Amino acid sequence: MNIKYKKIAIVGGGPGGLTLARLLQQDGCNITVYERDINKDSRVQGANLDLHEESGLAALKKANLLDAFYANYLPDAGKLRLMDNNGKIYLDDHTEEHIAEHRPEIDRGPLRQILLESLQPDTVIWNSQFDSMEKENDGWKLLFKNGKQFYADFVIGADGANSKIRPYLSDIKPIYSGVTIIEGNIYDAEKNTPNIFSLLKGGKIFAFGNQQSIILSTKGDGSIAFYTGEKVDSNWVKESGINFYNLNDVKKWFETNFSNWNTIYHELFATNKMTIVPRPLYHFSSDQHWTTQSNLTIIGDAAHRMPPYAGEGVNMAMLDALELSEELLHMENVRSAFENYETKMFKRAKEVTEITIQNTVKFHKQNGLQFIVDMFNNFNQ
Ligand SMILES: Cc1cc2nc3c(=O)[nH]c(=O)nc-3n(C[C@H](O)[C@H](O)[C@H](O)COP(=O)(O)OP(=O)(O)OC[C@H]3O[C@@H](n4cnc5c(N)ncnc54)[C@H](O)[C@@H]3O)c2cc1C
Repeated sequence: MNIKYKKIAIVGGGPGGLTLARLLQQDGCNITVYERDINKDSRVQGANLDLHEESGLAALKKANLLDAFYANYLPDAGKLRLMDNNGKIYLDDHTEEHIAEHRPEIDRGPLRQILLESLQPDTVIWNSQFDSMEKENDGWKLLFKNGKQFYADFVIGADGANSKIRPYLSDIKPIYSGVTIIEGNIYDAEKNTPNIFSLLKGGKIFAFGNQQSIILSTKGDGSIAFYTGEKVDSNWVKESGINFYNLNDVKKWFETNFSNWNTIYHELFATNKMTIVPRPLYHFSSDQHWTTQSNLTIIGDAAHRMPPYAGEGVNMAMLDALELSEELLHMENVRSAFENYETKMFKRAKEVTEITIQNTVKFHKQNGLQFIVDMFNNFNQ
């Protein structure tokens, strides 16, 4: 079967979906990406990402985008300071050079831009929030919230952690990890949080104590991204009584719940120049499987949502894209390509999911700091 005559729909223009689009399109495939964001200039929120040689970087290499990546990466952003809640530093990459070299960091915005610029014009149809789909001939009729409809011979769901494509493949529900994060983004951090900004030194801070965590990273646009982590019930965001749209409410929560943390961390909530998103962290069972279909599969967080405590999410999404593209470009039929991809993906995602669940639990135990200090000391040996 020649894949080049097939109409392929990718739903979701995150790192997974766009990498897959590039890898297939550069070999002549007919690709359309349907993305919920209004346009290409929509602000991409979230912490910057470190790409790993064997996954994220391998996918960019195959996509012939490594030069563009290195023209945009942040050489110092991977440098880590490991701290406790009193502000004491336990490990400091600013005195050691190795880690940043192996795990180069990039902001999400420039990564998306590099991938978008590599695609043919009009590959991405913006403002297309997927709503539902119906079988039509051997493929799918996709229906979008804006009332538009499109046909595709096969569909790849890359629509992230709350995927609307995934239920057409699997009814396995996500499992709550026990930890909820409050994700924040502070603009112009040098001005709005000067002490934290200089403590970060252009890199990142992982801080642990009191069974809580704060992860901070410096972004290339002068903002800092951070997320607090805390063990709470799965319905805490809805039932805590905190109005997460009201910054003052969130500030009061932080002052009370993180009162055992040094004043330096409290600078995070001393500014209004920030956005806040609460996120209960879920993962799929590490043993998940589904029956392969001949015209539908999923990649990235849609396939293997997991907490961020192993730094693998984007790398897994891009490796999914690489492995799936290789299967599709060398396939006998689409079903066997999907089956080969899913078999490898399940095995890989199982290992990473188990590590990330273990980290999520251990980081938020009483001796969480010691666990992570030992972990980094082992890496560095
Ligand atoms: C706070 C935090 C920190 C993280 N830190 C790291 C890290 O350091 N390293 C790391 O590797 N990973 C990290 N991750 C995980 C990483 O962000 C994800 O694993 C990665 O973005 C997954 O890529 P994706 O393309 O599968 O999905 P996403 O990046 O979620 O992209 C999905 C895309 O689909 C679109 N979409 C969603 N629904 C629809 C719809 N119905 N119709 C059309 N489009 C839709 C979205 O707008 C989005 O563009 C972190 C996650 C969080 C929350």
